[in-house]
Amino acid sequence: MKNSLEQSAINWLKERYAMLDFNDYQKIAKTTAIYPEQYKITYPALGLVGEAGEVANKVKKIVRDGEDNMPSDWKEQLASEIGDVLWYCAALASDLNMSLGVIAAQNKEKLEARLKKGTLQGSGDKR
Ligand SMILES: [Mg+2]
Repeated sequence: MKNSLEQSAINWLKERYAMLDFNDYQKIAKTTAIYPEQYKITYPALGLVGEAGEVANKVKKIVRDGEDNMPSDWKEQLASEIGDVLWYCAALASDLNMSLGVIAAQNKEKLEARLKKGTLQGSGDKR
């Protein structure tokens, strides 16, 4: 059971961020994308891998040390790294002149089709 202060904070966060969809986020991310034109696609692709590595490193520490021995804000730290991954996804999509919202919708359709066909598990892009 959450105390009232914690619940108030959760409600505030939900209200503050509830309206941000993928395309809105992509527009905001684009305003903070500062890298040389010649490194379009390359820069966010490399950054995406780097940030995914930061996510993996934080999860590795949870595996190594146990959740009970993690800093109290470990979920927030991990969420922050996931946000960094998202930023690079948005930047990469922008460099490809693609909509992050469309990419998300296409991925959703792919996953739903796999679920319907019973091919969520297994391997291969064309399941
Ligand atoms: Mg990071």
